[in-house]
Formats: sequence, C-alpha cells, structure tokens
Amino acid sequence: MNNSFMERTEKAIAGLHRLANNLWWTWNPRAQDVFHALSERKWRSSNHNAVAVLKSISHAELQARLCEKEFLQSVETVLQAFESYLTKEETWYHEYSSGADGKLVAYFSAEFGLHECLPIYSGGLGVLAGDHTKSASDLGIPFVGISLFYRNGYFQQRIAPDGWQHESYPLIDPHELPVELVTDADGNPVVASVEIGHSTVHFHAYRLNVGRATIYLLDTNRDENDLHYREISSRVYGGDSTTRVMQESILGIGGVRFLRKLGLAPTVYHMNEGHSAFLTLELLREQLEAGSSREEAEHWVRRHCVFTTHTPVPAGHDRFSPDLLDHLLSKFRERLGFDEQTLLAYGREDVSNKEETFCMTVLALRMSRAANGVSELHGRVSREMWQSFFNASSPDEVPIGHITNGVHILGWMANRTRQFWHKHLGDKWIYYLKKEAIWAQVSDPDLIPDEDLWALRYGLRRDLIEYVRRRMRHQFHSVGADYNEVQDSILNPDALTIGFARRFATYKRAPLLFRDFERILALINDSERPVQLVFAGKAHPRDDQGKSFIQQIVGYSKNPALFGKVVFLENYDINVARHMISGVDVWLNNPRRPMEASGTSGMKIVIHGGLNFSIQDGWWREGYNGENGWSIGDDHHDQDVALQYEKDASQLIEILENQLIPEFYNRDEFGIPRQWIQRVRKSMETLIPQFNTDRMVADYVMKYYDLGK
Ligand SMILES: *Cc1c(COP(=O)(O)O)cnc(C)c1O
Repeated sequence: MNNSFMERTEKAIAGLHRLANNLWWTWNPRAQDVFHALSERKWRSSNHNAVAVLKSISHAELQARLCEKEFLQSVETVLQAFESYLTKEETWYHEYSSGADGKLVAYFSAEFGLHECLPIYSGGLGVLAGDHTKSASDLGIPFVGISLFYRNGYFQQRIAPDGWQHESYPLIDPHELPVELVTDADGNPVVASVEIGHSTVHFHAYRLNVGRATIYLLDTNRDENDLHYREISSRVYGGDSTTRVMQESILGIGGVRFLRKLGLAPTVYHMNEGHSAFLTLELLREQLEAGSSREEAEHWVRRHCVFTTHTPVPAGHDRFSPDLLDHLLSKFRERLGFDEQTLLAYGREDVSNKEETFCMTVLALRMSRAANGVSELHGRVSREMWQSFFNASSPDEVPIGHITNGVHILGWMANRTRQFWHKHLGDKWIYYLKKEAIWAQVSDPDLIPDEDLWALRYGLRRDLIEYVRRRMRHQFHSVGADYNEVQDSILNPDALTIGFARRFATYKRAPLLFRDFERILALINDSERPVQLVFAGKAHPRDDQGKSFIQQIVGYSKNPALFGKVVFLENYDINVARHMISGVDVWLNNPRRPMEASGTSGMKIVIHGGLNFSIQDGWWREGYNGENGWSIGDDHHDQDVALQYEKDASQLIEILENQLIPEFYNRDEFGIPRQWIQRVRKSMETLIPQFNTDRMVADYVMKYYDLGK
C-alpha cells in the first residue's frame, strides 16, 4: 500500500463518518448499500442505523475493507453524490428566490418521523414533519427544525397471547444515533433555559442533519435540573397535562431561545400543529423587551408566524386549565410583564371569560399572519369550526386556507421500485417529482409495458410476503405453533393483498371491514379469487378502545379459518410501513368522515403501483377521479355516526366483492389483468405529481412563507 492510497482510504473513512451523520442516506439506496455491506447483521439489528454500524467497526477493519478497490470506488461515488447534493446551487428555491439571501424558515414540531432508527414520532403528524424537512432540503430551502430529544422515544409494541397491546420504552443512546451534541467553540454543550413554575430548567440540544436542513432536538436531561425536570423530554406526548405544558414550553419558548443562542434569526416561524404555540409568547417577550409597545410587538409576531392545524374536531385541540397554565408559566409571565388574565386571554376565544381554558390552537391562530388546514375539506371544516372566534359573518371569511399534505417519494420508495423507474424513465425524474409531464409518460404502454408493471407488482408483493414471514417468526410465540411448519402458508403470493396500517385511533375504524363477518370470510376463503389482509398499528397507551380494536384484529388472525390470510404485524413503525406500502395491491383507509384531516399513508403506495380504496375524506377526496382507485361513500357524511358506520361498511364490502376482486382476477391469455393495470397507470399519472412533499413545500413557500424575491 502506498501513501496516496492510504490518503484515499483515510479520506473515504472521514467521509463515511460525515455521511452516517446525515440522514441523506435514508433516501439514497446506494449509501445504504455501503453500510449494509459493512455489517449486514448490525445494519439489521440496529434498525438500519448507519452510525451504529460504523461504531461497531474498528478503524483497522475499515482500512482493510476499503483496500478492496471496487468497494472503495463505490464508497467514493456515494460520497461524491453526497457532496454535490450538499453544495448544489441550482435548486428549485434558488431559481424561485432569484438568489435572495437572509431568509430562514424555522419549523417547530413536537415530533419528526424521519427514519425507523430514530423513534421520536408517534404517527402521521411526525412523518409529515420528517417528509417536509427532506423536501425542504431537496428544494434548497434555508430550513431549520425544532423538536425534543425523547430519550425513551415512542413506545415499542408487543401483543400478548390474548391479543392485548403492551408498551415498553427502551432507552435510546444519542451516541448510537445519527445526532451530534451541539457545542460551542470550546467544545462545551450549548445550554439554554426556560422558566417553568418558579424554577429555571436548563437544556442542551442534539443536531440532526437532514441533507441540507438541520433539526435541533432539545433535551432537558441535565445534571443541574431536578429529576422531574430532567424527565420532561423523555417520552413522545408522555405524561399528564403538567408534562405536556412543560414539554410545550421547552419546545416553543426554549426553541426560540436556542435559535438565538446559535445566532439565528428566522424570517418565518412555522408551527406544525399547536404544540409549539408558546413560541409566539417568547417572540412577543423579545419585542417588548426591545422596547416595542404591546400592539407593535403583536404585529411583529404575527408578521413572522404561520400555523398549520391538523385537527378537525374541537375536542382534539390541546387545552389546559387556567390554574395549571398560570402556575407553570408564572415566572415566564413576570418576564413578560403581564398579569395573570392578560396572559390567559391569548389562549381564549372569549378574552373576557375567566373560566375558559387555555387553548394552544387559539394562541396559534391569534398570533399568526396565516393559518391552513391540510386538505381542502379540512380547510373548510376548520373555517366552520373557528368562524365565531374570527367574528366572521360566514365561514368563507375565516382566514384559514389549505395546503394538502404530501409524502417524500424518494424516502418511501422501495429499491425495486427505484430500479424500475430508473430503467423506464432514466434518472431525470428524481428532480421533477411534481412535474406532470414526467408522469404523463406513464400512460404510454410502449414506454412501460403492462407486462413490466405486472412483474413489478408481483416482485413487490413477494418482497412483502418474505418480510412478513421473517418477522412473524419473532411474534409467533403468541400463536403457539411450530413456525417452521407453517411459515410457507402465511400469505399467498398470488392473492389480492390489501393493507391497512396506521395509528389505531378509533375514528380510523380498523374493524369496519369485518362488519359482516360471514361475507368477508367467504371472500377471503374463495379458492379461485382469494383475498388476504395485512394489518399493523399502535394504539395510544391510554386508548383502551383502540387496544380492543387491535385485539379484535389479532383475534381474527388466529382464527383457524383465517390463519395466514389475515395477518397482524407487531410494532408498526416507518420500516414496517415501508414494506407494507410497497407490497400491497390495495391500500384501505376507512376513517369516519371528516376526521381524517388529510391522511398520507395512501399516497406512499402510488409510486409502487398500489391502488387506493378509501373514504371520500382528506386527500383522497381530491385525489380520486373515478378511474384511479376506488372510493367509499360520497362527498357527504351523516351526523348519525352509527348510521354512517353501517353505510360505509356495506358499501365497502359491496365494492370489494363486485369491483375490486373481479377486476384483479380478470386476466387475459397471458395472465395479465389489463383493466387493473390501466387503473394503476391512471393512479400514477394523476396522483404522483400532486401528492408529494416537493409540491407541498413549494406551496408553503409561495403561499405562506413569503420567501420570494
Ligand atoms: C405514513 C405513516 C403514518 C400516517 O398514516 P395515515 O394513514 O395517514 O394516518 C403513520 N405512521 C407511520 C409509521 C407512517 O409511515
């Protein structure tokens, strides 16, 4: 080995460490291949964590492994792509802003769902925040995120033999994660503080690199804090109202203070849901301290804040009792120079009502220059809900708009699917996800033959089934049989495969499909045209009804008449989701309208050739056009919840029986379901360019961030 080769390998090793500490690898399969190749076992056992893989390998081994020329070259290729991604100047935002400098978006969210190795999210809200950040990076938007570092994360789910969900909270170790402690020039942690009750609570932060974007995760686990303050940030949405107010104080007030410590002055503060709305009070405090009048200060705050609401029902909004709030914010309030009622009024619809609770959504709405819901229907529902607050004579005058959610397509794409598009469309499409002309090509059977699409579907369905069979081994004790004997009978690679996975919130109505048990039983067991179902999802630890829904589905999966045809996968997370959304033929979503503000899981399947079968709610109400999937119900819902349940259940099974199953099994002499494939093309062509976060984030920039020239 000569010196220049040594230099090359050392450079590659340094590059690998930089790469592992940037979640860019989570949406770049070539980068993942490198860590997978370094240690396949560790890659799997760490839930695909690049940092954990590198930690488990000595410098000597890395040097030796990189002596293999082909491997070194593939590492260098990945590192070059990484470097050019980070430094690229011609981004969408650069073009849009004509190079304007000095803008910065600060995006506050109580959770970020970025990757399965970082369990700091509970569900759709977090996944949306994660996808938002990845697209902000891809589009070149100056962007910083704020959240909490949850040492115990969100819970891990185990299902007991009786079907009941049990939760555990493993400790996560920041040294094993793609995060870095934020330190000053002397290497000491940067520490900021927030007044809580009569105390001062200190926190440091971890930096999470997401491509060109950065997220700061605040952590109160410091020696100088009392024990109960050290645990503020231990669990995602953990504890009672007291913990929630304390978490939200750290997130909102602490978030602004931490940005200041770093010398950052964002030009827009985006609140993703109301949890972070205390940030407006901290901004207000800063303005007052700088000598502004209250009116000027409020005006300044409003000019800098935007708010996205995600909650379509009044009961879903964070509300705190006046006593609790005043107690926990007392010292902070003194710094604001407000009396008790003045502070509380910011979170009240009726500022003179001293009984009214303090609502985070009200605070956010009052202190933002603009607010939006996350689908067209949700925007409308929100305008109706807040009409009296805004004193509007009609809902149309309420200043709440909408931007429909999306998903970060590259991050959700299975490797097999990525290769498929690479083969048929080349590489350019990656940079034009929201360009309709790119996806219009999908209608051309000369470019993409039916046969290729059908082969893709079969390949992806097989991948899912292999995954389920591997995974079921570890949860099989709850079924109690010899796994080796039965594993090949779990799921049928030729059967129509329907997926249902999401949080088991009761409004999502997981058991709806089983309303007429005999009828679904007959469909599943039809030997000519079988149907199979894959379920996954967690119920909130305090939601016993959600847990009973899980128990019901797990019960069906153990019923001898349904065994291997109805499957429940434990511990739903981003990894389980990724396998499910790519493998299933049909994605079922049947929430109670209009409770699904947007929903995003159905958007993830489209690029893989899956089809949506959903209620006319949230995004699907906009996406469905009559020929790109199937719809349950119409643009209307009954106030009678039980009646609506019956209607939806009967229409669901009706469409399944008379439309979906026949179309899936209607094959020509080559075994290909032409009509089905035609529907898949329509789905891709119409949905991909719309329901992605590149389109969504660009909408935020143009409509709400005011980041133009
Ligand atoms: C996409 C996703 C969600 C959101 O699913 P919805 O069906 O839109 O509620 C929740 N959890 C995980 C892990 C996801 O990947």
